[in-house]
Amino acid sequence: MRKPIIAGNWKMHKTMEEAVDFTEKVKELVPSNAQVDTVICAPFLFLDRLVKEVDEYNVKVGAQTMHFEEQGAYTGEVSPVALKGIGVSYVILGHSERRELYNETDESVNKKVLSAFQYGLTPIVCVGESLEQWEKGETREHVGSQVTKALQGLTEEQVKHLVIAYEPIWAIGTGKSSTAEGADEVCGHIRQVIENNFSKEVADSVRIQYGGSVKPDNIRDFMSHSNIDGALVGGASLDPNSFLSLLEAS
Ligand code: 13P
Repeated sequence: MRKPIIAGNWKMHKTMEEAVDFTEKVKELVPSNAQVDTVICAPFLFLDRLVKEVDEYNVKVGAQTMHFEEQGAYTGEVSPVALKGIGVSYVILGHSERRELYNETDESVNKKVLSAFQYGLTPIVCVGESLEQWEKGETREHVGSQVTKALQGLTEEQVKHLVIAYEPIWAIGTGKSSTAEGADEVCGHIRQVIENNFSKEVADSVRIQYGGSVKPDNIRDFMSHSNIDGALVGGASLDPNSFLSLLEAS
């Protein structure tokens, strides 16, 4: 059985004070034997503090991107070693906003995924089609290709332990979520691509989240589908009560 994973992606929101306040409220209410993994993906600046805040609680902290190199002359970037060194557990890689706004490519995402494993971080690899691709019926082909390229060179054991987030770009922050059936079908296709590239055992182990306008009132529908193992949530992860409702409904 795959353990569901709910991750909040705060993007570029909150001050340190707000981040700490949120975390203090949420951590107390996540049971130590929770049936879902809970992750907060915060801006770099807050990570060290939040890791300390959740120590001894059942909440993990993730970054929203990273560089693939261990160190070097990359002004403004953060390395996997630095993230691991402060106790960060997860890292979102290849989010569509990074691909669109910061020139992230399938190739750089692949380098980052390999690097995350090398330094002991669990990647949450994002894939998803644009509105145009969706309208043209190119979703499966596009998402399948993104998955294949992102996971190139990984071992079966590594793929088993990573998380994939299927986020249709047209559903992000628009209030227009995919139907649960539609999302489940694409997640099933992702699983099939992983089976073809690796094995059925690997495909059955990897956790696949849906992301895109997930809210407390629609998460149950997504989670009730067999290929969806959790959610990557933007807007609805910013308020502690809303985030707790997402966890409770999962
Ligand atoms: P929203 O939940 O705000 O649509 O954002 C989804 C997302 O991009 C999570 O990574």
